[in-house]
Amino acid sequence: MAQLQRIAISPEQFQAGEIVLTSEQLHYLVRVLRSRDGDKFIAMDGMGKWWLAQLRKEQAQILQQLTVETELPVAVTLILALPKGNGFDDVVRVCTELGVATILPVISDRTLLNPSQQKLERWQRIAQEAAEQCERAYVPAILEPVAFCTALPLVEGQQKYICEGRGNYPHLLNYLRQTPITNDKGQMTITIAIGPEGGWTETEIEQAISSKYQPVSLGKRILRAISAPIVALSIVAGELESRNELRE
Ligand code: SAM
Repeated sequence: MAQLQRIAISPEQFQAGEIVLTSEQLHYLVRVLRSRDGDKFIAMDGMGKWWLAQLRKEQAQILQQLTVETELPVAVTLILALPKGNGFDDVVRVCTELGVATILPVISDRTLLNPSQQKLERWQRIAQEAAEQCERAYVPAILEPVAFCTALPLVEGQQKYICEGRGNYPHLLNYLRQTPITNDKGQMTITIAIGPEGGWTETEIEQAISSKYQPVSLGKRILRAISAPIVALSIVAGELESRNELRE
């Protein structure tokens, strides 16, 4: 399937077994990719479903639904204090490649940066392009930035962790090793919060603990704010995907 182009389609574009392509999508398929009538492509709804579609007279006909196995066995939400500069672009791209389901940017006590609407749209575009490129079924949701204390109760994950480089907390991996992939409520969800360059304040750590977040370490070294989410997600993906493989 790797040779077929992937196009993200919104739900209202599906009509009676056909996809009503936008003029931009048509331009991309016909002018940029030089696709012709009868050529196939993959339509992704960004919510886990893929279809094999065929270009037919400026629209697309759905041929069949496809099975995808490129998602993590649990839905992971990252709560990320916004770092300075453009580092967040790379975080969004790499975390999408690693399988994140949702990124919730937060303004913490030590980050005062309030990003513009254009920045949010840019991150959503980066997530969409990265999801297409790495053949994911889901485009991760990049939510509107909120204050850290607002974010804590927003997420109802079953496993919630706050990463803290100091304080000798147990390693994230130790908790993950005890985490089942499903429970009686269905698929597990995992939430991981990562602080800004200046770190979390004591109050923020206390607030997180009272919202049932477990403080965890990602190892003995202090990672940059833009490296820590990538390390955390690599640990989650490595542990859960390798475990899944042993069961198959
Ligand atoms: N200025 C902080 C200090 O000196 O402790 C360091 C903050 S670090 C650059 C940014 C964020 O990455 C931290 O708030 C934490 O969430 C995460 N982080 C970095 N290294 C970590 C580690 N070894 N274990 C857990 N979290 C870590």
